[in-house]
This record gives sequence, C-alpha cells and structure tokens, in this order.
Amino acid sequence: MAVEQQSGTSSPGRIIMLADCQSFYASVEKAEHPEYRDLPLVVAGDPERRSGIILAACPIAKSFGVTTAERLGDSLAKCPDLVIIKPRMQLYIDVSMLITRIYQSFTDLVEPYSIDEQFLDVTGSLHLYGSPEELARMIQTRIQGELGIYTRFGIAENKILAKTACDNYAKKNASGIYILPKEGLPGTLWTLPVGKMFMVGSRMTRHFNAMGLETIGKLAETPLEKLKLMMRRKFGKNSDINAELYWRIANGIDDSPVRPGTHEVAPQSVGHMMTLPHDYGRLEDIKVVLLELTELVCQRCRGKGYMGHVVSVGCMGADYDRPSGFSRQMKMMDPSNVTNQVYRAAVELLLRHWDGRPVRKVGVSLSQLSTDDEYQLSLFDPHREKTMALERATDAIKRKYGDATIVRAVSITPAGQAQHRSKKIGGHYK
Ligand SMILES: [Mg+2]
Repeated sequence: MAVEQQSGTSSPGRIIMLADCQSFYASVEKAEHPEYRDLPLVVAGDPERRSGIILAACPIAKSFGVTTAERLGDSLAKCPDLVIIKPRMQLYIDVSMLITRIYQSFTDLVEPYSIDEQFLDVTGSLHLYGSPEELARMIQTRIQGELGIYTRFGIAENKILAKTACDNYAKKNASGIYILPKEGLPGTLWTLPVGKMFMVGSRMTRHFNAMGLETIGKLAETPLEKLKLMMRRKFGKNSDINAELYWRIANGIDDSPVRPGTHEVAPQSVGHMMTLPHDYGRLEDIKVVLLELTELVCQRCRGKGYMGHVVSVGCMGADYDRPSGFSRQMKMMDPSNVTNQVYRAAVELLLRHWDGRPVRKVGVSLSQLSTDDEYQLSLFDPHREKTMALERATDAIKRKYGDATIVRAVSITPAGQAQHRSKKIGGHYK
C-alpha cells in the first residue's frame, strides 16, 4: 500500500502565532491580589519551607535576581520582602481556559501548547483585523484588560519559527510582539549560539560545539547528509532522524498544523475490555486478542492525538465465583500510540503474569497520556515516523470503510475477534 504523508498542511502562506503569558502563575495571583501589584511576588511549591521550589516569579521579583526553579531560601536571601504564595493549580487551569476562549474569538484554530503558551493559526481570519502585528496587539490589549496578564507573541509562517520568535525575541522586546520571516533567518536566528535553538539543551550544545557548530546558522548551513554523518560518529546510526530534526528546526522547516483542542484535558486512560465467546486457554489465542485490543486502543489514541506511557493488561478467568487472572501495568521507554510497540509491552505483561488458567475477559489500556505531536521524531526509533504515518493511513481507511477492511493477518485465525466485532457497535450488531 502506498502511504502518503498528510498533504495540504504545508502552505507557505500561513500566519502562525505563539502566544505566551508572562510569569503566568505569578501574574494570575497578582490579578487576584491587587494589593501586591507593586511588590515582588513568587508562587512557591512549599511556601512553609525554605527548600520549597519557585514555580513562578513576577518581573519585580526577577529584578532582584529571583529565578524560577531555585529554592525559596535562595530567593529570600536575594529579596527578603518577597510575597510568597502557595500554588492554586485549578485557578491557573481555569484562567488558561479563559485565555483559550479569548484566542478562539479571533480564530477557531487554537492549540494549547502548555498551560501558558498557545498556538494560533490566524491565516484565515487575519483579513478581519489588519496586519499580524495589529491583531497581536488587539489580543494582547484585550487579555491585559480582562485578566490583567501580559502576553507576548511570536509570529511566523510555522509553529517552530513562531515559538522561536517568541522565546528569543518577543519576550525581550518592548512591544512583546515579534515577526520572524523565514527569509530573515540569516540575519536573526542564525547569528544566535546553537544553545538558543528550540530542543537543544546543554548536553547537545556541548556536542554541537565539539563538531564546530557554534551557531544555529552553522548547523542550518551544514548539508543534511553531512550532518547525519557527523552525528553518526557520535551517536551511531540511529541518530539520522535526530540529525534531520535539528536540521529542520535550524532551517525553520515545519509543516505541522495547528491542531485545535489537542491539549484539552486529556482522559486519564484509554482502554478496551472484551469478554470472549468461550474460554481461551492457549497462549497464542490470547495473544491474538491482545493484539486486536491493543490495535483498538492505539487507534483511538491516534485519532485523538494522544500517546500513553503506561500499558495495562488485565485477564480474568471464566469462573467469577473463584476469581483468577491478573491486572498489571508497566511503563514503556517512551510514550507511544504505535500498535507494535504497545503490543510488545502487553505481551511482556502477559508472559510475566498469566498463570496458564483459562481466560474469559481480556483488557488493555494506555494511561499517563500526553499529546503525540512532540514525539513524532523519536530518539529511540528511527522507523517510528514511518510506522506512525502508515498507521494514520490505515486508521483513515478504517474510518471511511469500516474496521474490518484492514485487519492484521492473525485476526483471520479462529481466535480473532476483530472481524466479528466490527459488525457491532457497543456490543450490538449494527
Ligand atoms: Mg510564560
């Protein structure tokens, strides 16, 4: 089967914004407590102890040298008059959702990226508001007026560049708004040290420096094939996909769409449980059912844009008066929604915990969910993107033509339930 990557997402004319809230938790608290407006304020994890960690510091506190993630004791040494507030996470989540609503009044394409950062695709609605800069200022003014929070806007043709524009420029200039055109990269982003690049931490900074790539521009201008060879020498063959990832970021290449709602409050877990038509006593048969259930769970996760870090498997015996079976879970190396990866973990659980007695009910679930957009290029599996593309394609065919159109070969064995199940909705025949 030919697999095509999603098309239609890479139009060069897009206008994407990353909107960031300044000192988010601290700003929310200041809006709630006007009496602290002109005082240095921090939100600290455990305000009763000097070992508590600073979660957010207002700009006044920062002007005393207070920084996020340091110990409260260290902050107090720099700024003895600090106002210290205990975190109120539900309040911050509520305010974050209010901000999402405000963004949504300007465009329906809003994707929360973190509690205080959201992507907006304003390509389609911009003509109603003027220039990108005018629109950003309009949104900024409205959020300041309604919620008392200062927002900064990085603006570019894709998400990577918008995020880059915000982190490196909009957070530092007076207007809080910065437009980063791709043609302007040689005079802007490329002059910055490589450590300023998105996704590059201190460890990779050291490696890139050792390779002679001190600036983002040096990295961007290295031909991709050469960069792959350079990285292979340090990290082995599996580093090709990372070489490509860094190279694309440095060159500002990113086709990913702004996906509305992907960060809506994620469900705790996604799972499926199946009662079998009769007892299954053979390992091979139970494995077939396990694969089908895993496929269903992963398919649902892929459809919603989630990945799970923890796999759970449950098997129950037929005799409900004398309960037998197990329900166990394990954490995978990386979050995943790739059927084969999750299945491998599920089988491991089965082999480890099944006592060999007949099974009547089987369940599989994925929990500790996160969104899948950040992980399409994984450090550990260079084939993963291809696998994910293949699975997206089969999911699309199943959505269109029904679940039984494509089934794994094992499902045609007598133990398989997938073909039978696809004729039913919620256990009832269609
Ligand atoms: Mg922020």
